[in-house]
Amino acid sequence: MEKTKKFMLQESEIPKQWYNVMADMPTMPKPLLNPQTREALKPIEMEGLFAKELVKQEFSAEKWIDIPEQVRELYKMYRPTPLVRAYALEKALDTPAKIFYKNESVSPVGSHKLNTALAQAYYNSKQGITRLTTETGAGQWGSAMSIACNYFGLELDVFMVKQSYEQKPYRKFVIGSYGGKVHASPSSLTNYGRKVLQEDPGNRGSLGMAISEAVEMAVTKENTRYTLGSVLNHVLLHQTIIGLEAEKQMEMAGEFPDKVIACFGGGSNFSGISFPFLRHQLEGNKKVTLIAAEPSACPKLTKGKLEYDFGDTAGMTPLIPMYTLGHDFQPEQIHAAGLRYHGGGQIVSQLKSDGFIESCAIEQAETFRAGLLFAKTEGIIPAPESTHAIAATIREALKAREAGKSEVLLFNLSGHGMLDMASYEEYI
Ligand SMILES: *Cc1c(COP(=O)(O)O)cnc(C)c1O
Repeated sequence: MEKTKKFMLQESEIPKQWYNVMADMPTMPKPLLNPQTREALKPIEMEGLFAKELVKQEFSAEKWIDIPEQVRELYKMYRPTPLVRAYALEKALDTPAKIFYKNESVSPVGSHKLNTALAQAYYNSKQGITRLTTETGAGQWGSAMSIACNYFGLELDVFMVKQSYEQKPYRKFVIGSYGGKVHASPSSLTNYGRKVLQEDPGNRGSLGMAISEAVEMAVTKENTRYTLGSVLNHVLLHQTIIGLEAEKQMEMAGEFPDKVIACFGGGSNFSGISFPFLRHQLEGNKKVTLIAAEPSACPKLTKGKLEYDFGDTAGMTPLIPMYTLGHDFQPEQIHAAGLRYHGGGQIVSQLKSDGFIESCAIEQAETFRAGLLFAKTEGIIPAPESTHAIAATIREALKAREAGKSEVLLFNLSGHGMLDMASYEEYI
């Protein structure tokens, strides 16, 4: 019988609602705290920073949330994305495991980030906001916000970690091509940036610092709001489009995954692919193992402590109950810049603490080896972030071989690495 490699949905099958795991969690996460009063944060306190509708979603425990028609229309640019059976990779590993991956690298910016960027730009524009600010590490999130702002006629200021701004210039040009403005962070545009530069003029920046600058600009400029590409509940919510599609596609393949695997930066692509499958377990029907693949250089779920911590370096955000390495943790300069965030977010951390999520930490060399094997077998050069998911999947496939056990593995290919060739060159 001919083997099916790609499982494709029709545009009409793009989900009409996102899935909110909060509705099914056995233990509710602890609340976010106002850093000054240390009292539970109220939605209204977040409305100066984020669009109202996004704040509502941040606090919502409603199980299904409608995807606005305009957002769904824009999703059609690149969705539904393919679900692929990785026969060639299976063969190279000589494993009895069945390996599937959801290919989010087909979006115009090459990663899953556009799934939430479009939604965030939409809700802000609907509210009459005219300018958005954000930060970006390697530039994936900035690129996604830039295309999204372009579609909704919003101005965008992106604070890009100086290290990447200088060493990885291409995404800076991608952001510019769609009309976004890019500033190397720390910058002289904000009080916080000026303070950092005064104390340390050669500072190379970090994601936490860039967040501090973007937040400061959002609260001090008129009609401006801030957007974040990961960590927060509303971001994870929007990303469930990945797993909801994958759920239908796995059905087409006649399988349900034993293990769902994704790389973990702030948890958005991990939650996006895995929560719709976890739903079946929380509803009491099926069992699934979720594995978050972290870099050894920044292992917040594997080695961090569960406690209240800030989302940024300067300590301007609410306090978040999460697994964290500390908000002033400065990870090594690994190539997977998108995985260098210090904390695991509210929902993922609660689920991890309740035993629903496993994690593993992987050295950079192993991830590049995995990325190159994937490129040679499946043909796609993966983003350095995504190579962590591939490496973790390979570990599981080899364990299955040793145990002589047929297992169904599903991982998320969060992005491609075509703009990260300098990283591959260094590794090779
Ligand atoms: C940003 C990014 C990540 C990490 O972010 P999460 O919120 O953990 O998903 C992973 N892969 C790619 C390609 C990214 O752009």
